Amino acid sequence: MDGPKRPRVLLVPFPLQGHITPMLQLGTILHARGISVTVLHPEFNSPNASNHPEFTFLPLSDNLSRNKATLSNAFQFISAMNVNCREPFQEYMDQMMELQELEGRVACVIYDSIMHFAESVATQFDLPSLVLRTTSAANLLAYHVILRLHEQNLLPLPESKLDDAVPELGFLRYKDLPYSISSKIPEPILEFLPSSFNIRSSKAVIWNTVDTLEKSPLTGLQQLYQVPFFTIGPIHKTTPPHNPTSLIKEDTNCITWLDKHAPNSVIYVSLGSLATIDAQELIETAIGLVDSEQPFLWVVRPNSVKGSEWMESLPDELARGIETRGFVVKWAPQKEVLAHFAVGAFWSHCGWNSTMEGISGGVPMICRPFFADQMVNSRYLINEWRVGIELENAEDSRMIVKNAIRRLLVDEEGKEMRQRSQEMKQKLEICVQEGGSSYNSLENLTQFILSM
Ligand code: UDP
Repeated sequence: MDGPKRPRVLLVPFPLQGHITPMLQLGTILHARGISVTVLHPEFNSPNASNHPEFTFLPLSDNLSRNKATLSNAFQFISAMNVNCREPFQEYMDQMMELQELEGRVACVIYDSIMHFAESVATQFDLPSLVLRTTSAANLLAYHVILRLHEQNLLPLPESKLDDAVPELGFLRYKDLPYSISSKIPEPILEFLPSSFNIRSSKAVIWNTVDTLEKSPLTGLQQLYQVPFFTIGPIHKTTPPHNPTSLIKEDTNCITWLDKHAPNSVIYVSLGSLATIDAQELIETAIGLVDSEQPFLWVVRPNSVKGSEWMESLPDELARGIETRGFVVKWAPQKEVLAHFAVGAFWSHCGWNSTMEGISGGVPMICRPFFADQMVNSRYLINEWRVGIELENAEDSRMIVKNAIRRLLVDEEGKEMRQRSQEMKQKLEICVQEGGSSYNSLENLTQFILSM
C-alpha cells in the first residue's frame, strides 16, 4: 500500500478550533494506519498546512463576506458554510474521482456533523460518508430532548421546573441543557437542530468520546441511530505528542515557567477559543488569582475581553501583582500544559476538547461554562465524574475565584479530587492501549474504512 496507491479519505472539518483539532487528529491517526488524507476546508480559519505535510489540503471558497455571515450569528454562519462550500467541494470531487486510478481510490468522506452538505455531495458521487461528532454523546442527546419538548409543546418551560432532572439524562437538570428552554426557541435554531442531528445516509458515527465515560447516553443514542458507532476518544491520546493543530501561535515559554514549579502547585486557566468575558470579569479574575496566593498560568486570548484588544483595561498595580505569581500567555500549548507535572488544577470553560484533555491530564477542574455543550460537560465533570467544582457566576466574584482555587490546590478536598482525576486518567489510558475499548474501536473503524 505505498504512496499514491493508498486508499484515501476526504475530511471536511467545520472551521472552528474545537472542531478542526479533532478532525486533524483523526486524519493523523488514519494516515498512520496506511490511509491517505485530503482535507477539504473552508477558507475561513484555514488550518496551517505546513504542520501536516503528510496531508493534501484543498481550500473551499466560502464567500462568507459576500453573505455577511460572521461568527456572531452562528446559525447564519453555519448555513452559509453549507451553501457556499458545496459547489467548490463538488468541483474537487469531480477531479478526484477522475484521478482515482493515479492517486488512489477514494474510500469515503468523513465530515463534521455541522458540515452536512458534504454528505449529500458524497451521495451524489456514490461515495459512502461517515460523521465525526466533536462534542459529547450526552450533548447530542440533550439536543434531542430540547426538540422533543418543543414537539410536545412544552416550551418555554416554567422557571419552577428548571431544577428538575431530565429523565433521559439522569442527573442533568433542564437548566443544564445546551440551549436555554425558559424562553421561546427562535426559528433558526429549530431549523438547525434536526439538520445537525440527521445523519442522512451516513454509514457510521465517529465519536471523540470513551465508552466508560458515556455509557448511558451512547446506549440511548444507539437506539436512535441504527449505524455503527466508533468511540475512539480521547483522540489526542492516540496522536503523537507533537501534533500541532492550533490556529493561533502557541507560546511555549510557559512550559519553561512551569518547569520551575513544584508538582501540582499551579492553576492553569483557559476559556478556549470562543468564550469572551467583560472587563469587570477580567479584573475579578485577576484579583481572585492573585489573592489565592497560588502560582497561575493564565491564557488571555486576544479580543477575548469585550471592548479591549487584550488586557489593557487592568490597572497597573494589578498587572504587577500578576507578574509576581503568574504567567500570562495569549495561547498555550494546552495538551502539553495539562500533562505537565506542575499543573495541579484546570479552570476551564468546559469545551469538549478541554474536558477530554483535562480528564486525560488527571487534574481536578474548576468549571465555568458559558454556552452550548459547555453546560452539559460541566455538569458531567461535577456530578457524574466528580472531578470538578462549580464556579458560581457572580458580579463580585474575586472571593469565589480565590476560594475555588484554594479548595483545589490547598485543601483536603482538592487532594481527594485529584486522586479521583488520576484514577480516571488511568482508566482512559487503558482504553487507548492495545485491547482497550477506544483502541479496538479505532481498529474496527480502520477496517470499516478499508472495506469500503
Ligand atoms: N487550546 C490551546 N491553547 C489555549 C487554549 C485552548 O491549544 O491556550 C486548545 C485546547 O487544547 C482545545 C481547543 O483549543 O483543544 C479548544 O477546544 P474546546 O472544545 O475545549 O473549546 P472551544 O474553543 O471549542 O470553546
